[in-house]
Amino acid sequence: MKWTPITQATAGSNLGDYEHARADFTWEDAGKSLAGLPGGRGLNIAYEALDRHVTKRTAVRWLDRLDRVHDFSYLGLTALTNRFANLLAGLGVGRGERVFTLLGRVPELYVATLGALKAGCVLSPLFSAFGPEPVLQRIRLGEGSVLVTSPELYRRKIRPLRAELPSLRHVLLTGNDAEPGTIALGEAMAAAGTGYEIAPTAPEDPALLHFTSGTTGTPKGALHAHAAVLAHLVTARYALDLRQDDTFWCTADPGWVTGMSYGVIAPLVLGATLVSDEGEFDARRWYHVLSSRRVTNWYTAPTALRMMMREGDELAKGFDLSALRFIASVGEPLNPEVVVWGRDTLGLPIHDNWWQTETGAIMIANFAGEEIRPGSMGRPLPGVDAGLLRRGDDGRAAVTAGHVREITEPGVEGELALRPGWPSQFRAYWNEPARYEKAFADGWYLTGDVARRDADGYYWFVGRADDVIESAGHLVGPFEVESALLAHPAVAEAGVIGKPDPVAGELVKAYVTLKPGYEPTEEQRLELLVFARKALGAVAPKEIVFDPHLPHTRSGKVMRRLLKARELGLPEGDVSTLEVSG
Ligand code: AMP
Repeated sequence: MKWTPITQATAGSNLGDYEHARADFTWEDAGKSLAGLPGGRGLNIAYEALDRHVTKRTAVRWLDRLDRVHDFSYLGLTALTNRFANLLAGLGVGRGERVFTLLGRVPELYVATLGALKAGCVLSPLFSAFGPEPVLQRIRLGEGSVLVTSPELYRRKIRPLRAELPSLRHVLLTGNDAEPGTIALGEAMAAAGTGYEIAPTAPEDPALLHFTSGTTGTPKGALHAHAAVLAHLVTARYALDLRQDDTFWCTADPGWVTGMSYGVIAPLVLGATLVSDEGEFDARRWYHVLSSRRVTNWYTAPTALRMMMREGDELAKGFDLSALRFIASVGEPLNPEVVVWGRDTLGLPIHDNWWQTETGAIMIANFAGEEIRPGSMGRPLPGVDAGLLRRGDDGRAAVTAGHVREITEPGVEGELALRPGWPSQFRAYWNEPARYEKAFADGWYLTGDVARRDADGYYWFVGRADDVIESAGHLVGPFEVESALLAHPAVAEAGVIGKPDPVAGELVKAYVTLKPGYEPTEEQRLELLVFARKALGAVAPKEIVFDPHLPHTRSGKVMRRLLKARELGLPEGDVSTLEVSG
């Protein structure tokens, strides 16, 4: 079906005309919007987000689970983050040390994040719905010195494994009740001073460590520098059409890169008011938040939009959404139906945009006032050069004698690639230089996604080039899930794939071979589901099936690609590397 392009009427957007904005743009010019640390002492994300504004305007409008409103002003947060930075100094935590957060959407998350950045530490946020395994692995890989968490999350996820985290010198628990081996954050904050001179940080100093999943091996820690703040600012301005007097709601959890870049940093840098909701997704609640908090710009995800769409139009029509001016979505393909539903039911079409943990900020977008092509992720931002590269047998860009071939004709699938040099580009995979190097070829950063481009330069997402699963907008590493299943005594082998799902995009599905002596019963299946859920939390498989003969490559690896083809009822393709079972 052909979808008609949509252009949302606007009284003028931040971008203006796309072609002109692109032609006129340089990162150097854009950099003049940043304040820089006083006295030319460098650049610090937290200073740009808070201190530079010196205003009583609301920075964070926090809604607790009971929908009570708690406002934090720019000045108030400046003082609170100063306290946190002083607290870290008092504990002897030095620049460059990793501070992890494992928190829901609570005020302490914003304070710890920006306070740690002021202290020159590297902040690494963890998704609070992760089970103990992913949490343990990430803190271990990132060699975290400090963890800020809640007493409940500590009890459930950290305490049983604390001995396995030798790098962790300090654990701060929200509230005033510490337990052995921890510090009560409330008390420690009260004792810390409100004056703090931000550590001099250079634009290239490391600031944020975001973990993302790969096909094999452990999660990768994508390291971002303070310079990223310029990309946060520019992309929020252009791709989210955000302004200082806006009320902005990014529904992504700050445990993921979207929730950190746009749920914390970007709106504050622009001096806007950000809404943070402690509650979980619920269609009625979300409509209520949009309406009662007079949200002007809303950045959300396809899974949530599809769920709201399913609730029916009557529910939507019952809320006053007149303050809303711009809606954007990210994380997974956005169905054209949803874009059109937005226009017809919410009164605004949805602007899809594309980026990933490594890029640190939005790279490709449908812009305010420009034509939206439903089903397309849009066009590259000013300052971003994208391309498509011809692929080899493994689905990734083919590199021959150090060179790749760029696709210039429209409509041809290739690996999506970006020319390095934008400020929020990741600077390293933590402690893994070889993995980092492999992400680049012939002057391109290779994204691992496959896309097409039409004759007008709009990009269309096709899929992942590798086996990484996209579930509810987040990447899940099949290897990580397989490893967790293998820890169960009954499991001989596991192959994990993404199964298409109308709401989540993909569901994590596991094929399991049992060890001799174990029966493929319903009881055994449930036991494994619970076991995986306990270890992995939100990224655990939702479906497990038993299969005594998983397909293998000749080198002995489970062939996920074939499992996936079988699941989809597709031709099994080239199986020349398949082991001949016999
Ligand atoms: P993450 O690094 O966890 O943020 O995941 C990034 C990945 O999500 C990308 O590489 C894509 O595979 C997928 N993704 C993000 N945005 C979109 C989009 N607008 N359309 C399709 N896939 C997307």
